[in-house]
Amino acid sequence: MRHYDAVIVGSGPTGSYLAWKLAGAGYRVAVLEREKRPGKKASCTGIISVECATSFAIDGDVVLRQARSARLYSPSGKLLRLERHKAQAYIVDRAALDAVMAGRAEAGGAEYVFDCEAKDVRVGSDRVTVAALHCGKRLNFEARVGVIAAGFGSGLAEGLGLGRLGDFAVGAQAEVETVGVGEVEVYSGQGIAPGFFAWLVPTRPGRALVGLLSRRSPGTYLRRLLSSLVAQGKVVSDNVELRYGGIPLKPLPRTYRERLVVVGDAAGQVKPTTGGGIYYGLLCADIAAGVLCRSLETDDLSAGSLAGYERAWQKKLGRELTLGRWARKFYERLSDRQVDRLFDVIGHDGIAEALLKADDLSFDWHGAAALRLLRHSAVAKMAGVMKLSFLGND
Ligand SMILES: Cc1cc2nc3c(=O)[nH]c(=O)nc-3n(C[C@H](O)[C@H](O)[C@H](O)COP(=O)(O)OP(=O)(O)OC[C@H]3O[C@@H](n4cnc5c(N)ncnc54)[C@H](O)[C@@H]3O)c2cc1C
Repeated sequence: MRHYDAVIVGSGPTGSYLAWKLAGAGYRVAVLEREKRPGKKASCTGIISVECATSFAIDGDVVLRQARSARLYSPSGKLLRLERHKAQAYIVDRAALDAVMAGRAEAGGAEYVFDCEAKDVRVGSDRVTVAALHCGKRLNFEARVGVIAAGFGSGLAEGLGLGRLGDFAVGAQAEVETVGVGEVEVYSGQGIAPGFFAWLVPTRPGRALVGLLSRRSPGTYLRRLLSSLVAQGKVVSDNVELRYGGIPLKPLPRTYRERLVVVGDAAGQVKPTTGGGIYYGLLCADIAAGVLCRSLETDDLSAGSLAGYERAWQKKLGRELTLGRWARKFYERLSDRQVDRLFDVIGHDGIAEALLKADDLSFDWHGAAALRLLRHSAVAKMAGVMKLSFLGND
């Protein structure tokens, strides 16, 4: 049995960020990771905002390229090109990001245990016990507090009575060789990614990630998209391996209990519009670090003390998540014809220019843009026809 102040399950960005903060505050921290190294199975495009990279001191070495423009294609092929003067996002090497963040936490004193899958988490009156399989052998860890940062689908939070991630999509992605692709491209349409969108994101010279989100058959839709991109001459071959990952679209009903918090994808702290979760997860991990440091210091790890974590992250993200879910529902109900009409409205009524100039529209905060769009009569009419009222939908 090994004893710690905190045991963290998962070495993704949120787990490693929290490990770094807690170890830096002088606590004894263990991070359990089921893979043999950080980021080994991460299926992620690695797009993060400049705001995210700056706020969380993301190492410039993991940045593959900057993006300041994107080409959006409507279902019928209409093009809307959005461009800002300054870089809006960085495309990072996701495996390298996880490795760098884990390395930083390890250097700060956190102990990483790889090839170690948490099988069971028990909360007792004075400790949390994690039963794990380490290199095929049983190993138990004890700590004053536990953190579930295990991403989507581990089932650990549900097993602890915190409910389940009630709404999710599945992402499928492949790395491809490209010809002449210099900008991020985004595709929409029922035949491409029903209710969601697909992407082609250039990474290294001549390489890109092609992927999409869907509630059903993501692999089938991605194979179809790859063939089409090969036919268009943008992608060299569609004989590539597909990788999948679940994306929560709504937070867990509860993200804490006595001696335990849940962060990141495991807690559903993800933008419902795009499924991007790195920034929101890190923001919540930062809030969790503050609450955990105070609670460990006063040795008050009661549910009442840790409730401050959920209150604080809801305060930070609650409105964005509500607006984002509304925007997602609205978009999912649009027919291809209506999406085309939306492209016309955005492209021709000066909305694109207004949105691009707006200070309150950013890569990470979509609520203001959703509200601006809703104020446009054509969009309000579509929402009205769908009987999709903004309030009371969730
Ligand atoms: C196709 C796709 C593309 C995406 N693109 C983007 C993007 O461009 N930008 C963006 O911001 N987000 C993107 N996301 C979402 C992003 O990947 C997640 O939001 C982010 O990884 C969440 O970080 P996390 O630390 O919470 O969890 P994760 O990164 O999922 O890390 C969880 C870790 O826990 C480990 N683990 C799981 N169960 C156990 C267990 N029982 N015991 C021990 N270890 C365990 C896993 O191996 C993993 O290393 C994408 C997701 C998908 C599927």
